[in-house]
Amino acid sequence: MARRAQSECSDSVLWVPVLVLTTVSALFHGPALSAHAWGSDGHHVICNIAEALLTEIAREAVEALLPDNADGNLSSICLWADSIKRQDGYRWSAPLHYINTPNGACDYKYIRDCRDDVIMPGFCASGAINNYTTQMDTDPDQHNLTEALMFLSHLVADIHQPLHVGFEGDRGGNSVDLFWYNTRTNLHHVWDADMITKSKNVNFGGDISRLTKALLKNITSVWKRDAKAWSTCGGGEIACPDQYARESVKLACQFAYPDARRGAVLSDAYFQTRIPVAHKRLAQAAVRLASILNAIYTEV
Ligand SMILES: [Zn+2]
Repeated sequence: MARRAQSECSDSVLWVPVLVLTTVSALFHGPALSAHAWGSDGHHVICNIAEALLTEIAREAVEALLPDNADGNLSSICLWADSIKRQDGYRWSAPLHYINTPNGACDYKYIRDCRDDVIMPGFCASGAINNYTTQMDTDPDQHNLTEALMFLSHLVADIHQPLHVGFEGDRGGNSVDLFWYNTRTNLHHVWDADMITKSKNVNFGGDISRLTKALLKNITSVWKRDAKAWSTCGGGEIACPDQYARESVKLACQFAYPDARRGAVLSDAYFQTRIPVAHKRLAQAAVRLASILNAIYTEV
């Protein structure tokens, strides 16, 4: 019996993704949008590491689901969910990329927080991860599994960006306008992209594959014991996105929001104390995405 994804209230996941007739390959060329998402570097790092951690059975199953223009490469589909969320037919999916908590609330509660702006229960990153995990694990003949894989690979990453589980009043830092060194940006974008870009440029010669390799090496060495814990859910489930969300909002309160008021200038002091957190969240997301896919395909 395959294990199910865990939720504090999985019975509340009532929604079903809208079926669309447009082909995946046609949708694949939509414009990339950066709000509410790790930037492209973050998603590529996570999917490339996850792909390296797949079992042979899972790798073959994943490759069989990838659209032709993915060239057998999981990371090439990991931005798809952002590229379509503002397109006709997919606007319903925009709330699946994040979770809002009440202003100042550093905890996460599924029933309180996992909903969209019109209070549709289950319409958040956690509900969606449960939904797509369950589709792939228990009901393979009933769903578009290519889309399920593309959503799952993206949303497991998003939920690990601490400000994807941030305060409703500032939209997870999107409306906290400030400066990253001398560039005008917002706090959410600092965590999506600016810190990772700086790390890539300063520490890895501008080569994102070197950052990817460094994190993968940590996962198989200094973080080896941690990585085993990251991939384990308390109740033995395949995925436990409520846990990922609780971690994220806690990190948002501990690391992202402090020192980052509107108009602030964030520079070396912020970067040096926060980039280890961002690196570890990339690694955790990758380990968990691989673990979910390995578990789905090991148990079929
Ligand atoms: Zn996203």
